[in-house]
Amino acid sequence: MRKLFLLGMLFSLFCFVNQLEAKENMKPLNEKEEKVVEISMHTARGKMPELRKALAAGLDAGLTVNEIKEVLVQLYAYCGFPRSLNALGNFMTLLSEREAAGIRDAAGKLPGPLPEGKSIDFGTANQTKLCGAPVKGALFDFAPAIDEYLKAHLFGDIFGRDNLDWRTRELATIAALAAMDGVDSQLASHIAIGKHNGVTEAQISWILEVVKGNSLSAFPRGEENTAYAKYFIGKSYLAPLTKDERLHVPVSNVTFEPGCRNNWHRHTGGQLLIAVGGVGFYQERGKEARKLLPGDVVEIPPDVDHWHGAAPDQWFSHLAIECNPETNKNTWLEPVSGADYARATSGK
Ligand code: MN
Repeated sequence: MRKLFLLGMLFSLFCFVNQLEAKENMKPLNEKEEKVVEISMHTARGKMPELRKALAAGLDAGLTVNEIKEVLVQLYAYCGFPRSLNALGNFMTLLSEREAAGIRDAAGKLPGPLPEGKSIDFGTANQTKLCGAPVKGALFDFAPAIDEYLKAHLFGDIFGRDNLDWRTRELATIAALAAMDGVDSQLASHIAIGKHNGVTEAQISWILEVVKGNSLSAFPRGEENTAYAKYFIGKSYLAPLTKDERLHVPVSNVTFEPGCRNNWHRHTGGQLLIAVGGVGFYQERGKEARKLLPGDVVEIPPDVDHWHGAAPDQWFSHLAIECNPETNKNTWLEPVSGADYARATSGK
């Protein structure tokens, strides 16, 4: 009896650990790390309202003021003084507003003194340790000054500051580079450096997906669409773009993660969709699905059953314009089954 009880206990413990692991697998970074990624991505793009939200969420998640400052200072090496200075200014304003509102944010540690000796020496050692081997190349022979700045300044003066660990520095760098155009080679290098410093494959995929989902269109991505989640398969995000109800034109940006689509549904007032990012699909009952690319416009007549969503392996973003909003009513129907979705989207 006692043995059975113990076995039972062990089994529930096993299930519990498994569940924790499953949760961990779904969201490979912890909350603080996620916020470092978001802060870095918005800093690199210079998107101030989004950055402000991410900074506040980072503080709420327990990042210290000095940890965040350190991320923003380091990013100047990857996206330039203007982006870094704007982000620091934004952070400074946010902190004084929080203080005025009575929120006490933890200052955290300041960096200790830099290692003994010249920056170029300990910086070269840091670079070798970070990358797993000495870094050489024709480019550095061609322009020795940049090699010296990288070694002495970036990997010495900046990476030598010990109040942010190297793994976190790499999370920030990967997110910032992924958010910028035309730096694929540097992104690939930093993904390799990240892996060498404990960032897993799953964590890198997560970062790239978050950055990609955020870069879909010039419009904000908004919040996860939890209110309508029961009418969607997969995750979607909603950003209402218009406020003034007297205009009678409610417009929202809707973003779908890969494979996400809404249920079959109809609108009594009809609906207009304008594709603005990624690759998506639209299908009316009994008809072939239509592939949607940025710039495509879909005019959905009143009372026609349809669904819209992302391609299986691509993010998608469209503006949704409610037509005849004074009288419009939406009717939600059954989900688009995996088989129907696969048939609608395959080979297109
Ligand atoms: Mn619709």
